[in-house]
Amino acid sequence: MSSHRISLYHNLTSPFVPYSDSDWLTGAITFRPLLSAHTSPDAAADWAFNAFNTDRLHLASPHTGPVDAESLLAIKVYRLVRLPSLAVGDVAAVAGPVGEINWLACDLDGWRPITRPHRIDGEPLDVDVVRPFLRGRLSADLEAAGEAGGEMHRLCVFELFLSCGHIATVARDGWYPVSVACCDRLGGIVSRGDYIPFASEVEGINLLSERYGPRPGGARRKPGVLLRRRPRTDDPYTRADGGACPSAGRFPARVGAPRYIPVRLIAEGDSAS
Ligand SMILES: [Zn+2]
Repeated sequence: MSSHRISLYHNLTSPFVPYSDSDWLTGAITFRPLLSAHTSPDAAADWAFNAFNTDRLHLASPHTGPVDAESLLAIKVYRLVRLPSLAVGDVAAVAGPVGEINWLACDLDGWRPITRPHRIDGEPLDVDVVRPFLRGRLSADLEAAGEAGGEMHRLCVFELFLSCGHIATVARDGWYPVSVACCDRLGGIVSRGDYIPFASEVEGINLLSERYGPRPGGARRKPGVLLRRRPRTDDPYTRADGGACPSAGRFPARVGAPRYIPVRLIAEGDSAS
């Protein structure tokens, strides 16, 4: 057994179409499954494809073999933050036991070796970042807190539906906030020469995971961790052919998108009666 590291990237430009060098990718997840030292990069990528696309009831089938604890955690996180399934056009980076990295693109008939992609928008979510918010059993945690004379911290993973038009998946030591600093889509102010974006209001939440962790009395709460951010609205756009019906997004006044004002164009020579 060895320490491979598999990092997965989703295709933003042309999902379901074989990857090309001009495509943009975004990081999905990175983790260390327990694989044989002789596992080839292709086989490792295949293993990841099965792990993240298979129904959890069939994960430990004779076809896929037993699943180790690290992989189970990665699969749990993958589904918890609602990452889309792997498909043609997506990319895997498989780092072997000695550190060499093989980049592979998912094609219709298997994995194709590619050179390191240059268009990557956002690194993959490291399973280790989410681990402290998921590990532990409630009964064991309560016992440990009682013995230590400490206090319990509420460790949660939320989906926050924000007024800026984003959905942020965050891990927090504590309950959910009423406003967060997300992006600059709502505008901002300049204070002492620095631009400060307005905070986004939390308009709705989904509680994805909750547990209690023992901490020493008076322990400071750790800052929240942003696990994923995705659009809640469709992006504003204008049709390339200049036609009518551009989209201003679902909440145009809030996300700062341009408002669409129909203007009647008057050709030269027409009378403006
Ligand atoms: Zn935002």
